[in-house]
Amino acid sequence: MNVIDQSPRRRTNFWRSRLDTRTAAVIASATGAVPLLAIALLSPTFLRPNALPVLIAVLTFTAVTVLFAAKVGRLSERQFAVLGFGGMTGVAISAYLIADPAGTRAVTSMLAIVPAIAASSSPPRVTAGLSAVAVVMATALSVISVGSSGWAVTAVAIGAAVTTVLVPVALIGGLRRTLSVVNRKLQQLADTDPLTGLVNRRGLLSNAGILVHEACERGKPLSALVVDVDYFKAVNDTAGHTAGDRTLAAVAATLANAVHAVVGASDAVVARTGGEEFLILATHREDHELTRRILDRVRSDCTVTVSIGTVTVDVRPAASDDGASPATSFASTESGGLDQVLDAVVRAADAALYRAKTDGRDRACHAGTLTISWQGTVQGRQHENGRGQ
Ligand code: GH3
Ligand code: MG
Ligand code: MG
Repeated sequence: MNVIDQSPRRRTNFWRSRLDTRTAAVIASATGAVPLLAIALLSPTFLRPNALPVLIAVLTFTAVTVLFAAKVGRLSERQFAVLGFGGMTGVAISAYLIADPAGTRAVTSMLAIVPAIAASSSPPRVTAGLSAVAVVMATALSVISVGSSGWAVTAVAIGAAVTTVLVPVALIGGLRRTLSVVNRKLQQLADTDPLTGLVNRRGLLSNAGILVHEACERGKPLSALVVDVDYFKAVNDTAGHTAGDRTLAAVAATLANAVHAVVGASDAVVARTGGEEFLILATHREDHELTRRILDRVRSDCTVTVSIGTVTVDVRPAASDDGASPATSFASTESGGLDQVLDAVVRAADAALYRAKTDGRDRACHAGTLTISWQGTVQGRQHENGRGQ
């Protein structure tokens, strides 16, 4: 027998996963209108004469809003704008229907809710539009409710109503901007190796996804280089770990300079993938200009040398894979997510690196061409966990 868990915690989790914050706020604020009907029924003088049917119509719209929002779960921008405008119109009508001006002013303050919700998660133009509507409505209601008390009182009422709308919008908008700046910085920190300032493996996946995808679209291969510092353990052993760190930072800067002297910054990524190991992905250069320049620059600018294993990566779209065999000795076809592609690339380049090491170091060896069947799509940072499809 199936026992359905209806515990409060389970129900809370259900709604939390179904509703986004903005939709939940719309539902909560719309539900707040319900007491008006109860008060109107208990106190017949609360409303202007003959206003009850209009209030019932407003509350019916409110109920429809709540049910619709609960059914949709995550309101689209357009749905939120329409329901928000409808909700504010409902608030304005309800405020107008209240006989006592003090009651009208109290309900008028509720016009601040929808613009505040918009400021928390909608685009600026939606927030600006809803705020402008709220300001106009609040001004009109202030004139209607206290206009007879003279211009000074009316001006104060308008000022208070407009401030009530705009201050939360400004505050929430400011917090939201701060949050997105902090998030961007955190993202950058998470993608960066602190010692060298190069991207780490996580950052490599973000950048490599774009390069692999573009190589596939343009039909142009990539060059992958695995660079390893020669006899680096000896540097640590003789000069100490701190000096070793400085050497690594110098090698990293030299690699980045050498690569960017040959390939534009948007066409290459230089990453620190391990202790004294680096991976470079760049749009392909036939004449091995890249490896020559790296070896020369490291020799002249650093106290160590490096060995390099390279592989040419031919990226083909998976759908139109014609099975043509690659021209060079190393050939295989790999398909899958970006992390599997990078693993295959590094495996191939590592084999060449091993040869460079055993042949005497301070040199580059080439592993031929690796054909990659790529079926990934790269949108924004969707690939950041290595899933390119
Ligand atoms: P080979 O030419 O064969 O590559 O020799 P190697 O000494 O460079 O290679 P090995 O793998 O034996 O040693 C790598 C050393 O790199 C060992 C490790 O202590 C050091 N290392 C790894 N990460 C760091 C780091 O962040 N800072 C410092 N100072 N040393 C590091
Ligand atoms: Mg190593
Ligand atoms: Mg080494």
